[in-house]
Amino acid sequence: MTTSTHSDTAHGAHQALLFYMYVMLSEPEKVAAHVRLLAEKHRLLGRVIIAHEGINATLEGALKDTEEFLADFMVDDLFAAVQVKRSKSRGDSFPKLSVKVRDEIVGTGFTREEADPLRRTATYISPEVLRSWYAEERDFVVVDMRNNYEFASGHFANAVEPGISASRHLPLAMEKLEPLKQKTVVTVCTGGIRCEKMSAYLLNKGFSDVYQLEGGIHSYMEKYPGKDFQGTLYTFDQRQTMHFGGKREVIGQCHLCTEKTESYADCGNDTCHLHFLACEKCRDPQGNVYCSHACTQFAIDASKFIDA
Ligand SMILES: [Zn+2]
Ligand SMILES: [Zn+2]
Repeated sequence: MTTSTHSDTAHGAHQALLFYMYVMLSEPEKVAAHVRLLAEKHRLLGRVIIAHEGINATLEGALKDTEEFLADFMVDDLFAAVQVKRSKSRGDSFPKLSVKVRDEIVGTGFTREEADPLRRTATYISPEVLRSWYAEERDFVVVDMRNNYEFASGHFANAVEPGISASRHLPLAMEKLEPLKQKTVVTVCTGGIRCEKMSAYLLNKGFSDVYQLEGGIHSYMEKYPGKDFQGTLYTFDQRQTMHFGGKREVIGQCHLCTEKTESYADCGNDTCHLHFLACEKCRDPQGNVYCSHACTQFAIDASKFIDA
């Protein structure tokens, strides 16, 4: 694996782990304390969210430490079958370890009636089968359940983009997705965790033939680097994006000048903070960039205010 923000050299062998599991946890606080202890013991950094419905984790550490953590973690029968995605990293993807208990392991805001993966979710489709569907040019539609800024730097060919900026906004995209109700739909997201709920939500809304990509885009790219998925895969850590090599094209475009880029920025207007693709040329010498004229003006006015 390579990242667009760093070279892969030096820093020894590090690894990022990505895993989730929907499983009924009666005492999420206890599980959180246990996981925190294990992560600290093996010197891992990253983010873990635990809820009554399961666990969602992205952790990073020295290669050996990450494997030893997993061995300890999977001793528990509850987690013995967890599917883990591994990728090479530099060891600096996360500034700290955060283990939190929340209401959900992905923030959709759906009620249990609207989407409960422990009760019902879409049929899984493996990367191998999806690849064969592409090869056969079968009649199906990929619906990308990630946020719009993630979609911007990479996505499957001809994927439908709901155009949401957060998972909890999926209900706002239903009008756009409505025409796909009778189609064969394959939902995709980074590692699969969001699709468990998003595809369940589609089934609940009367979609008739819904599949979810097993292991998410991560697993697909790992098996078929440079194939069908165009561009690079957004990550929620300091790597920004990642890919697995293969012949690939940069498809991300600077939000300001449309120059090809895979580099993300946050709008320098603190009341905006839009997360978007911005090329080097569109940043000021300090690296600041604003998403719009309005935000640039806002920053100029604010600095005048401070100077005065
Ligand atoms: Zn630009
Ligand atoms: Zn802005």
